[in-house]
Amino acid sequence: MSASTPPSWPGNLYGLFQSRFPADRARSFIEMEDGRAYSYGDLENISGRYARLLTNLGVTKGERVAVQVEKSPEAIFLYLACLRAGAIYLPLNPAYTKSEVDYFLGDAEPRVVVCRPESEIEISGIARAAGIAHVLTLDRDNGGSLPGRARDLTPLEDYAAAEPGDVAALLYTSGTTGRSKGAMLTHGNLASNALALHETWGFQADDVLLHALPLFHTHGLFVATHCVLLNGTGMLFLPKFDTGAVVKLLPRATVMMGVPTFYTRLLAHAPFTAEACRNMRLFISGSAPLLEETFHAFRERTGHTILERYGMTETGMNTSNPLDGERIAGTVGFPLPGVEARVCGDKGQVLGPGEIGTIEVRGPNVFIGYWRMAEKTKAEIRPDGFFITGDVGKIDARGTVHIVGRAKDLIICGGFNVYPKEIELCIDRIGGVDESAVIGVPHPDFGEAVLAVVKREPNAGNVTAESVIAACKSELANFKVPKQVRFVDELPRNAMGKVQKNDLRARYTKA
Ligand code: AMP
Repeated sequence: MSASTPPSWPGNLYGLFQSRFPADRARSFIEMEDGRAYSYGDLENISGRYARLLTNLGVTKGERVAVQVEKSPEAIFLYLACLRAGAIYLPLNPAYTKSEVDYFLGDAEPRVVVCRPESEIEISGIARAAGIAHVLTLDRDNGGSLPGRARDLTPLEDYAAAEPGDVAALLYTSGTTGRSKGAMLTHGNLASNALALHETWGFQADDVLLHALPLFHTHGLFVATHCVLLNGTGMLFLPKFDTGAVVKLLPRATVMMGVPTFYTRLLAHAPFTAEACRNMRLFISGSAPLLEETFHAFRERTGHTILERYGMTETGMNTSNPLDGERIAGTVGFPLPGVEARVCGDKGQVLGPGEIGTIEVRGPNVFIGYWRMAEKTKAEIRPDGFFITGDVGKIDARGTVHIVGRAKDLIICGGFNVYPKEIELCIDRIGGVDESAVIGVPHPDFGEAVLAVVKREPNAGNVTAESVIAACKSELANFKVPKQVRFVDELPRNAMGKVQKNDLRARYTKA
């Protein structure tokens, strides 16, 4: 498949999935640890009823449905309902605070918001101010007004007509300026990527996926779930990653996808043995760099070689180590079918094998732009269609892609992206703080941990590590809150006045 190949899926992504559902709809789609189970028939029925409710609420093609809920099978059915209704699904991390949600809802202007029952009052306040018509609730156990109001509705029979170029999902990815950007992903983007991954990873008729990833991010929502839907098979579904639960379920699974933190945590857990992995076919890692140390320790413990892949919100997956063939530690493999990758220098010139520069990608997977940010879109997608990823890397003579750093000083903590600027802005607002710089330092569990370096104003001894952390906690999702705070007299700067974060990283990594 190349970028110019006509799409081989019906316009609506749901139609592609439906064409792959098992003929026997009683077959399992989701099995929970507590014994709850959902068949493909349930999937069709529940997503059909949710889609009916959305259309009854006036949701029409292209309208946004924002969803900030705990992970549950119903959250997947709601996503599928949005596809069926032709709406644009906008998932939000439940860890986002009121001010963060305020921004997303104001920017995306959804017609419907679905939230947790405990945040209904808060979200209703935001929704009223933003002119959002409907707020529904959903909890992790199938309670709330969404399932309640959909219960007696007649399921939508089919799905809305859509073109491959129609937007199916809006995923926010924070910018280095601290302002989040909504990446518009089309039915065609998602379908092409799902097909490429399903083929590349050799999904088989008897595969069972262990799903322990969150559902508000491309990894758990698209990569893992789409492979299962295209395969028409089942998954073992955990509400969150838990080493004990994973080890218990692994003997019944054949494929697991995780962030590197999953694998370091499993390795630290003695009951995680080769025996627990006896039925496994494939362990896949991504969303953050997998340390070579973890790659080797995992192979030694289990006999399995983790397959590392590379992608991002804006593009879905771009590269993967091979299913058959050597998987090389510290590399992210080859471009997926239909995806092209190149490395460019400062002036946009294409670099040769082994030369380090910015990784750019092109293909049917690449998003169509940032929501209502035409200038940002223009700055990051070149006229020839290549997207400037912001990752720094090289492509060796064999065509293997290596990532060596991140152009934008992004911190990846436990698989979640943390953009320093957003935290610096929060810290700089604290009375008594002159300025700050936020960096990532290696952390054995999270991969990287957030560390804040703070310059106080004179006589501002009342600004302490505790007060900085408390101020961040009140404004930011927990995973963004610094784990450590260090105080300095001056931040190191270069002749251009830029803070030298490399110096800070070197200093505090040694410490
Ligand atoms: P997100 O948009 O949250 O999926 O984050 C995308 C970013 O995560 C990429 O731009 C990379 O910096 C990083 N990333 C994803 N997968 C890998 C990987 N296998 N190795 C290194 N970095 C990765």
